[in-house]
Amino acid sequence: MKIVLIGIQGSGKSTQGNLLSKKIGVPYLSTGHIFRELAKEHTPLGRYVKETVNSGYLIPDDKTLEIVGQYLARPEYQKGYILDGFPRTKVQAEFFKNGIDYVIHINVSDEEALKRLALRNDEREDETEQALKRRIELFHKFTEPVLEFYREKGILHEVDGERPIEEIHLNICKILKI
Ligand code: AMP
Repeated sequence: MKIVLIGIQGSGKSTQGNLLSKKIGVPYLSTGHIFRELAKEHTPLGRYVKETVNSGYLIPDDKTLEIVGQYLARPEYQKGYILDGFPRTKVQAEFFKNGIDYVIHINVSDEEALKRLALRNDEREDETEQALKRRIELFHKFTEPVLEFYREKGILHEVDGERPIEEIHLNICKILKI
């Protein structure tokens, strides 16, 4: 089963992605995590990715498509995956031809997401207030058209992300008929 989770930062994608991964036994893959790992490399690409991720801007589409394509070509992703953080722009969605079965939008308001992020205590270099606000702003600008793209394809499902974790999980399981 190939699943894409979409939501602003703080919407609970990684929590839900990991729960789901355990339940259905397909790997969870977060592009944010991939880029944060790449950012640790002392190479020109690593330095560029670090600057971009920490500022909250997006990695260019061609680079992102290339890197995600390389990951998903690995044997462990052939039976399926749960993708978090990609596709994030309409160009990425249009170029990504991978037979996605379900796209799930975990919907939380900007206010709720910012509130949750302020309460997090795992300090991360890329989570300055400015970067968080920029990611939310870029979500509305670049990722909302992605929701529209999948809505037109008939595979977009919306879930209310402002409820307890277990309820949201059950809601997602119902959508996936599992
Ligand atoms: P996330 O943890 O998903 O919020 O991602 C952290 C950062 O990684 C983002 O602010 C971007 O700089 C980069 N990133 C993650 N996924 C993508 C993507 N699909 N396209 C472009 N940049 C991305």
